[in-house]
Amino acid sequence: MPIHTTVTTASQLANLDLENLQFGKVFADHMLVIDYKNGAWQEPHILPYGPIEVSPAMAAIHYGQALFEGMKAYKTKEGEVVLFRPQANWARLNESAKRLCMPEIPEDLFMEGLKQLVALDADWVPQRPGYSLYIRPVMFGSEGLLGVRPAEEYKFIIFCSPASSYYAEPVRVKIEEHYTRAVEGGFGFAKAAGNYGGSLLPAKLAHQEGYHQIIWTDGREHNFIEESGTMNVMFVIDGTLVTPALSTSILAGVTRDSVLQLARDWGMKVEERRIPIQEIVDAYAAGKLEDAFGTGTAATIAHIKSITYQDQEMMLPPVADRKFSNRVAQELDAIRYGMAPDPHGWVVPVQ
Ligand SMILES: *Cc1c(COP(=O)(O)O)cnc(C)c1O
Repeated sequence: MPIHTTVTTASQLANLDLENLQFGKVFADHMLVIDYKNGAWQEPHILPYGPIEVSPAMAAIHYGQALFEGMKAYKTKEGEVVLFRPQANWARLNESAKRLCMPEIPEDLFMEGLKQLVALDADWVPQRPGYSLYIRPVMFGSEGLLGVRPAEEYKFIIFCSPASSYYAEPVRVKIEEHYTRAVEGGFGFAKAAGNYGGSLLPAKLAHQEGYHQIIWTDGREHNFIEESGTMNVMFVIDGTLVTPALSTSILAGVTRDSVLQLARDWGMKVEERRIPIQEIVDAYAAGKLEDAFGTGTAATIAHIKSITYQDQEMMLPPVADRKFSNRVAQELDAIRYGMAPDPHGWVVPVQ
C-alpha cells in the first residue's frame, strides 16, 4: 500500500537525550494521519509530527468521542524493529470504536500505516535494554457540529515517543470504596479518553493521602476488585494466579492476556473470576497473599508494595522474593527483544 509521505526537513533526532527521557514529552519526527469523511476512510498520509487544525465545535471535545491505544516497538540485538501483538491493539481499538459509535478501521490500513510510520522513524527506537518506542494511536470525532449525535468526520492519528526503561518503585495502593472508574454497562472496557478524565481526581486525592495508585472496585457494591490505576491487576494467592474476569467495566489489557498465557504455558493454575476484597484480606491474614501487581504496556509489571483497605495496610513480600511476577516480566522482555522463543507469534517485524 503506497502511503503519501512527506519526510521532515527538520529532524529532532539529534536532540534526543536518552539519559534524561521523560515519558511522553519527546516525539518522533513523523505521524500518520487518516481522515474519515463521506462514510469512508480517506488516503493515509505520513507527515512531519506537528500541530493539527481542528474545529472548536468538534465532537471529541464536547461529547467525548475520543479513544486511544498504547503499544510499543522494540529494537532487537540485531537492530531489527519489532512490534508486540499489534493486531491485539487494532482489534481493541475497533471494540472501543464500536462502543463510542465511531467508525472501525480496517486491519490492513492500521497495520500498514503503523509499520510504515515506525519503519520511517526506526532510528527513534532506542537500542537499549528496557527502552522502546511508545506508539500512540488516537481517534476522535472531528466534525464541527454541536448537535448530539455520532460525528460524521473523524481523524485517526498515530504518533510515537521514545520511552526509557520504566523501572518503577513498588507502589503503595489503596482500595477505593467511594469513587468508581467504570460500571457494568458503561464503557470501562473501551480505551476511551473519558475514562481517564474521570479517574484523575480520585487518583490525585489518593496521592495526597500518600498512595501511588488506586485499586478500583465495582461501582455497585465496592466489594469486588477491578483494576489498579490504569493497569489490570493480578494476585498470586497460595500459588494460584488470580485476576478479575473481563467485563464491560474492565479493560482487556494485552499485557494481561500475555501474562495469563505465559502462566498457563508454565503450568500454573490461573483463575479469571470475581475477586471479593474480603478474599484478599483473608489470604493476607492466612499468609497466602504471595504477590500483587499491575500489568500494562508502559511498565509491563508494576509490583505492589502494600494494599490498604480501610484502616489496614497489608504488606506484600519483598519484590526479590516474588518468583512469578519477576519471571514473567523477564520472559516478556526476552520475547520482545528477540532473546527468547516466541511460540505464540507475538512479535511482528515492521519491515
Ligand atoms: C491501557 C489500559 C490497561 C492496560 O492495557 P495494555 O494493553 O496491557 O497496555 C489496563 N487498564 C486500563 C484502564 C487501560 O486503559
